[in-house]
Amino acid sequence: MINQKSPGLPSIDEIDIPALKEKYRQERDKRLRKEGQEQYLRPVGRYSGAYEIDPYTSATPRKPSFDEVDVVVLGGGWSGILAGVHLKRVGIDDFRIIDHAGDFGGVWYWNRYPGLECDNDAYCYLPLLEETGFMPSKKFTDGFEIREYAQSIARRYGLYEKALFHTMVESLRWDDELKRWRVGTRQGDELKARFVIMANGLLNIPKLPAIPGIDEYRGHMFHSARWDYEYTGGEEKNPVLDRLADKRVALVGTGATAIQLVPYLGRYSKEFFVLQRTPSCVDSRRNTPTDPEWVKNLQPGWQARRRANFHRGANERFLPFEKDLICDIWTEVNRNISAELEEEGWPKISDEEYARRYEEMDFRVMERLRRRVDQIVKDPQTAAKLKPWYRYMCKRPTSNDQYYQTFNRPNVHLIDVSETQGVEQLTPKGFIHQGREYEVDCIIFATGYEVTSDLERRWGIPVFEGRGGFSMYDNWKGTYKTLHGMMTHGFPNIFFCGYYQGGLNSTLTLNFEEQVKHMAYIIRAAMDRGAVAVEPTKEAQDAWVRHVRATEVDRSEWIASCTPGYFNNEGQPILDEDGNPRYRFYLGEVYGPGWDAFVSLLEAWREEGQLAGLRLEKAEEVAGVPA
Ligand code: NDP
Repeated sequence: MINQKSPGLPSIDEIDIPALKEKYRQERDKRLRKEGQEQYLRPVGRYSGAYEIDPYTSATPRKPSFDEVDVVVLGGGWSGILAGVHLKRVGIDDFRIIDHAGDFGGVWYWNRYPGLECDNDAYCYLPLLEETGFMPSKKFTDGFEIREYAQSIARRYGLYEKALFHTMVESLRWDDELKRWRVGTRQGDELKARFVIMANGLLNIPKLPAIPGIDEYRGHMFHSARWDYEYTGGEEKNPVLDRLADKRVALVGTGATAIQLVPYLGRYSKEFFVLQRTPSCVDSRRNTPTDPEWVKNLQPGWQARRRANFHRGANERFLPFEKDLICDIWTEVNRNISAELEEEGWPKISDEEYARRYEEMDFRVMERLRRRVDQIVKDPQTAAKLKPWYRYMCKRPTSNDQYYQTFNRPNVHLIDVSETQGVEQLTPKGFIHQGREYEVDCIIFATGYEVTSDLERRWGIPVFEGRGGFSMYDNWKGTYKTLHGMMTHGFPNIFFCGYYQGGLNSTLTLNFEEQVKHMAYIIRAAMDRGAVAVEPTKEAQDAWVRHVRATEVDRSEWIASCTPGYFNNEGQPILDEDGNPRYRFYLGEVYGPGWDAFVSLLEAWREEGQLAGLRLEKAEEVAGVPA
């Protein structure tokens, strides 16, 4: 067999899809909150420790900078680092990378909680492996290894001398006379930049739940993205949380972060309460050390091939006879279908038939995962509460070999807060659940990030103005308007990395690397042509928006059926121009013909060399502005 079906996968006869759909609907409806993003607090004021304060590196005092540079890159995580690499490749060296962290790494800088590992195949996730010769030590490698690798790339490409760390951008203003972006920071800098690359990430701003009484709680609390080892004991590379031995600890949230954390908190806390609103699905991990024999035999181009295989397995469909190289939870649905097609002798099947099989396999895989809970968790009531009732990918699938096992410990208690749509109430001493107060010494929030909330919340930049002082937040109110998902009319010389309006690849770092490569090309081309400003024409932008929408696969039915979360905008639709509700994964508008077609389209656009759809303002057209 080329691909193996998952052990324990139920047959279609063992499940009742209409009954499951009804159960999923009930579970979704009971969690839908009309407040949407407003159920979350921003990390300011009393909660600024969840975002603004860097517990890992102390800030070095410096004088404000008034430098004038070719490019400011906003963010020193993977996309910012890759932007630096690609700027250098096109010969642009006069740039700054700004980050409010004390070093490179982005989300991997901030997150240092016990148990942190890459949840994706690291051989795909880590960029530039063939170029640097680096190999992660495990399939799902440790968080600190990822951070150290990111920093090694920054060193290799001379990015440290470009960095402005511990610096928070608070205003971005296009100065149309100077033809420069004015970049204002909390540290008093006022940089002038010809170009800006927004490489500010998806998981940069943590959020806290606005639980009634949260202001009254007097115990210790912190967000998982700013782990307090001082309080818990232990350290990142040796997370023995010995100071929790006499502590009662509560964890709010059971997303991908909590799944990694729970085994540690369960092992070390005196008493541990897991406050769960929606359970994650948790498969076995099957993490393995990197096999040196496998590495020795890798042929040039292996990473691109592996990433393409992963993308087909996670997002499209495997080709006939194609082996799944990834073999984890992310590719399970397609792997199982591929195995069954092989059993049937590889019949030719239409896209519609494939979609039907995919839906059935989704229900079967989720049933397998629910059965896994019963196999591990001893108390049937706890097991019942831990079962996920939604379609595959409604929540990020996870894997861990100690998560469910932790609930068999006598000091660990699962508190199901789904009936009250979240934790009911905090008190000065702890939390209330079903009329009873539970006293706890510490509450840890693994409650996620501003991933799909309003742009002001997501970006945290109070002032963002393009031509004529027009606000970026008004520009994209309700709907993205871009050319290729990266530039927008009225905002010259600025580029956006992220899932806005373009191709989508399952490997985030590849997705963003293709974007920054394209941006570096445009910056180089504009400078070579003596342009001081470059922006999409309104016509080209409108045409791109129409094109993406015409090709977009409408996934509204599936996304609307999911339990709420940041994937689906807390279950709230977005209204399109005609007032029709649309549900989008990550709010992004995805180019329908697929990732490969999107990359080919960008390549063809660059090869043509016309900068089609962009309007260039030349220095000689603008009196007094240096070229
Ligand atoms: P998530 O947003 O995925 O999870 C937040 C959790 O908090 C959910 O369980 C949510 O419940 C819960 N919650 C929110 N409000 C309340 C409330 N009022 N009462 C009780 N519970 C509440 O955040 P994570 O930090 O877990 O993950 C964010 C993302 O970070 C992941 O999806 C992934 O992209 C990334 N990540 C990557 C990792 C990796 O690769 N190693 C590891 C960890 C995270 P509900 O679901 O009901 O909303």
